[in-house]
Amino acid sequence: MKVILAGYNIDATIIDKAKRGENVSELPLTPETVSVAYARISRDPRPVTELRQRSIDDVESARRSARNIIFEMNHQSVAEHATFNFDILDISRLCVEHLEWHRLCSFTEKSQRYQELVGDYVLPKEFEGEARPLFDGMMKEQNNLYTKAFGILLDYFKEKNPEMLEKKWERRVVEGYAKEDARYAVSLATKAQLGFTANARNLEYLIRSLRSSPLDETRQLAENFYSLAGAVAPSLILLTDPTEYEKEFGRPLVEDHFTKTHSNTRQYVAALLEKHGGPDVSNLPVEGDVKLVDWTRDADRATVTAILHSHTKQPIEKCGQLAAELLKNGEAEALVKEMLRYSNPWESATREFEAAGFTFEVVLSAACYGQMKRHRMSTQLVQDYDVELGCTIPPSVIDVGLKSEFEALFKSTNEAYSELAKYDTVAAQYVLTNAHRRRMLVVANARELHHISRLREDAHAQWDIQNVSRDMLALAREKAPLTLMLAWGKDAFSQKKSELNIE
Ligand SMILES: Cc1cc2nc3c(=O)[nH]c(=O)nc-3n(C[C@H](O)[C@H](O)[C@H](O)COP(=O)(O)OP(=O)(O)OC[C@H]3O[C@@H](n4cnc5c(N)ncnc54)[C@H](O)[C@@H]3O)c2cc1C
Repeated sequence: MKVILAGYNIDATIIDKAKRGENVSELPLTPETVSVAYARISRDPRPVTELRQRSIDDVESARRSARNIIFEMNHQSVAEHATFNFDILDISRLCVEHLEWHRLCSFTEKSQRYQELVGDYVLPKEFEGEARPLFDGMMKEQNNLYTKAFGILLDYFKEKNPEMLEKKWERRVVEGYAKEDARYAVSLATKAQLGFTANARNLEYLIRSLRSSPLDETRQLAENFYSLAGAVAPSLILLTDPTEYEKEFGRPLVEDHFTKTHSNTRQYVAALLEKHGGPDVSNLPVEGDVKLVDWTRDADRATVTAILHSHTKQPIEKCGQLAAELLKNGEAEALVKEMLRYSNPWESATREFEAAGFTFEVVLSAACYGQMKRHRMSTQLVQDYDVELGCTIPPSVIDVGLKSEFEALFKSTNEAYSELAKYDTVAAQYVLTNAHRRRMLVVANARELHHISRLREDAHAQWDIQNVSRDMLALAREKAPLTLMLAWGKDAFSQKKSELNIE
């Protein structure tokens, strides 16, 4: 893994000096000065421009203030004014999942849809010893099938889309179809690269959380973030260093929340499950299983109430009563349409649509999860990958007659997984493929469902997440037909709008 600090914000007055050719090497090239100046706004009446200059003139005092304000007074949000960009190379897809779990950050990642894979993978530290031949062997088998499948699928998609072979960009799209389906053969150890941006508050939380990961690679990532960002902004990335913390605050750094909460609860829940009849193995899902498990009762009423409330000065009770009346006499539809009149496929729905919420259980492949996890404005909880849930096989793979080869690969992958689990149960997941599946809970409000639908029900979206999002939206639309009347993929949006007479 390689982590490079690609950028961070420094005061613009320093940038201006550098642009004028002045020597700025003695000036504080750190985002701490901006954070501290903003923190001081709270109590210091001077103009913020002066506060920024004061921080630049005395960076040591600024650092002391940051420690005091952020860590002693717990005013941690001021650390959000410092931002860091990182290049991350040679990281596994599994480790990317751990990183992207932290949703208040920004990520742009190498796409396995758009780039051909060359067989490179991360050898997890956990399997560097006697398990290595097994791990390497499995990677070879998976990558061999990827290469074979890619060639066959490319011919298949070319034959299916002859009209797309003229223009270069369309040929690329056809190649993408082959790549995105062949990749169901490769593992979560496959190398990725991404650009990652986080503010200091998130970064610090993330370092503490990643440090307690059971995966060595993830802990390494945390150490990289700590050493790179900590060197530039020591007063903002402070809670992460046990020695410095104890020196600073005279008490030990207690990280039980990160190290124990989930592992202890897992054991506790396992005992509870045993006590109450053991695991249910009768309810294994069929492919693409999406269940709507909970939703705001009277979801349309909740949305209409919110629209009335934010556009009047009436109390909530009056808005609720009026909403019920409008729904009963049919006037609510026109009101929701009025809210949607100026919407277009690229703008998000308005905040009123957050009043209705939905909870789904989705069983999805790792390839699909890799996309769903990027929808940060939802609450997502995942189980570990579970070989009992089977694997997702792309329809194209079945069409070209490679189904049995993929199934044989998944069988040997599962055997390797069982063997590797004897060394390390969590790290064994590295060997699982993009086709392996897990259960996920997605809690999203109707505003985010509009967004998921626009991007993922759209014809440009990858088929696996198209299927999942289509099923999610179909179930939610039944419960909230007005609220979600215009929640469709970008491609269908204009037509649906016109069908609904929203002009
Ligand atoms: C066809 C397609 C191809 C894609 N290809 C790639 C790819 O190659 N590589 C890749 O990395 N990703 C790719 N993505 C994923 C994409 O970049 C988004 O991360 C993903 O679709 C989630 O969308 P979002 O960030 O808009 O939504 P969400 O995270 O669900 O957020 C919803 C909305 O909230 C707002 N929001 C959320 N967080 C922030 C924030 N931090 N700052 C400002 N506004 C915020 C935005 O308005 C956003 O639209 C692709 C997506 C699609 C549909």
